[in-house]
Amino acid sequence: MKKINTILIANRGEIASRIIHTCKKMGIKSIAVFSEVDKNMPYVKQADMAVYIGGSAPKSSYLNQEKIIETAQKNNVDAIHPGYGFLAENSVFAKRCEEKKIIFIGPNISAIDAMGSKSKAKKLMQEHNVPVVPGYQGKEQSVEKLTAEAIKIGFPVLLKATAGGGGKGMRIVREKSEIENAINAAKRESRNAFGDDELIIEKYIASGRHIEFQIFGDQHGNTIHVLERECSIQRRYQKIIEESPSPVMDEVLRAKMGAAAVAAAQAIHYDNAGTVEFIYDEKTKDFYFLEVNTRLQVEHPVTEEITGLDLVELQIEVAQGLPLNISQDEIKGKGYAIEVRLYAEDAANNFLPVTGRIEKFKVPEVAGLRVESAIKSGSEISIFYDPMIAKLIVWDKSRPAAHRKMQYALRNLVCLGMTTNQDFLLRILEKESFQKGIYDTHFIETLEDDLTESHASLAVNFSAMASTLFDWQKREKNRGLLHSLPSCWRSNFYAPQKEVYLTNENEIKIEYRYNDGGFVFFGKESDHHVKLIDASEDFVRVEINGVRYVFNISKKKNNFYIHSESFGNIQLAQKERFPEKEKETIKGGYAAPMPSAVIKILVEKGQSVGAGDGLVVLSSMKMENTIYAGESGVVEEIYVEEGGNVEAGVLLLKIE
Ligand code: ADP
Repeated sequence: MKKINTILIANRGEIASRIIHTCKKMGIKSIAVFSEVDKNMPYVKQADMAVYIGGSAPKSSYLNQEKIIETAQKNNVDAIHPGYGFLAENSVFAKRCEEKKIIFIGPNISAIDAMGSKSKAKKLMQEHNVPVVPGYQGKEQSVEKLTAEAIKIGFPVLLKATAGGGGKGMRIVREKSEIENAINAAKRESRNAFGDDELIIEKYIASGRHIEFQIFGDQHGNTIHVLERECSIQRRYQKIIEESPSPVMDEVLRAKMGAAAVAAAQAIHYDNAGTVEFIYDEKTKDFYFLEVNTRLQVEHPVTEEITGLDLVELQIEVAQGLPLNISQDEIKGKGYAIEVRLYAEDAANNFLPVTGRIEKFKVPEVAGLRVESAIKSGSEISIFYDPMIAKLIVWDKSRPAAHRKMQYALRNLVCLGMTTNQDFLLRILEKESFQKGIYDTHFIETLEDDLTESHASLAVNFSAMASTLFDWQKREKNRGLLHSLPSCWRSNFYAPQKEVYLTNENEIKIEYRYNDGGFVFFGKESDHHVKLIDASEDFVRVEINGVRYVFNISKKKNNFYIHSESFGNIQLAQKERFPEKEKETIKGGYAAPMPSAVIKILVEKGQSVGAGDGLVVLSSMKMENTIYAGESGVVEEIYVEEGGNVEAGVLLLKIE
């Protein structure tokens, strides 16, 4: 047996934190590595030692094999844990570790290689009587051959890149007329993503559920499965919610699928943590092998919560050559666990990733809630890596209890400063069909937005009122003089105060008046009586019509990010307060009407312009906005640059 006293973690973010946690528990020294943008990330501080390994682009740091091995050798590490992603399923890297006598915490090299290609993996599984999706995984790759095979399989079919992963290069083809284009497109995509354009074709399982089994092997030939996880809630073929047990599982099916998973593991002499993925056809009750992931999965905590096992600890033990200290019979699931992945992404905009700074991150205190987080308040979600912010995992005795707890956690989690999928996750959990366990991999596509119009407008209006009072109390605090007068007191007492906010679609006009220690906000149908109860740098507690709400608020320039338990996350942009007045102050001056990016400057200094000519193109809240000349003249000065950002009221240019 080789003893592991020091582990280098060749990864970042939440998974690095997760591994450090177990290292500490086992008395193992942990060494983190970090890139430029990650230097202040929590995991870097949590490790016993941390080493800077290069620039922010993955190839300079987390994919820089040379640098990582060199760091490991310099610091006498016994083992490298690759986490998931980056070098986790890279057999070349595993081999380099072996050559340097560093333990690679993962399966043996030939197991990684055997599962690296989808066509090879399927052939191997077929030989070991593991059911695979009917399809074609041959060498001949001409369009004619692939078309003929697709017809043989019967439409719809799914094209997959042999070298693929992460859902890239996959394409559903529904009829013969589409096949040629689809083959060419899939080949192009996989060549670009993986440098290899070999495809396999599979029968497309329309009502498929993604059910996977955690497997574990050791170097003594023992192989077990550690129950299933259902991961059918996906967007772009990638998981966002996972739970265990699967709502469709019974003992008979579990025994069958578990045995297939163990057979798959044995086929490749598996000797660490892995996952055998299956697609389960609810109509026929058949299940088919998809792939083996030769690493620890993102969703492994779900399994840990129901079994009480520490999978990272087990990984380290078997990597040292110890036999598995648990047998198949001893693996028992208790209760239910569910995990959701919080991403910086815009569910309303095709789930596109979002970058920026998380101003406030606060996890609610809930017994049985586990948070595996990459960040803290103030952390950046950068363009360089996966935009996952955190994983929330809950355990409870029953599925409904676990689901209720997760909803509570999601409603009360505060994560402000950018768009996230927090409310989207909550919507899924609130769906009756999801609660009943009736779902498949298409669930998200069929999810309709059933937030009522009135709830949505209430949410925006109340959040706008809270933002208004948030600003009001700040002004009030900063005001040295005239303390006896409320802020924004006007001699014209009867004209109410006004604020205008923009959401993606609408303009929200707020009119209010300070009145006897409270505020009246004037509404279309009725007025709201509002009291400011309490406030600080990042929240206000307000009473609206007798009900108290807490609004967490983060204000970046003129953008408000607002969260409340009742209304979820709302984003508002505040419109310039006194636009007319500012424009008047500089004759011939043109100012930005709201916080914007300068997209294009259409004129040059010294140029003559006529009334109605375009001057500058701005973009704000995804909308472009051209500023036109009001009268003719000569451009005297341009104060901004293309690509820059301007705040509301900033002078853009001046015309003589
Ligand atoms: P990757 O390696 O890119 O993650 P997988 O083979 O694991 O690809 O498949 C990812 C997801 O695609 C699955 O979880 C499932 O939702 C869907 N999928 C894969 N194969 C099929 C199939 N034959 N029929 C229906 N859906 C499939």
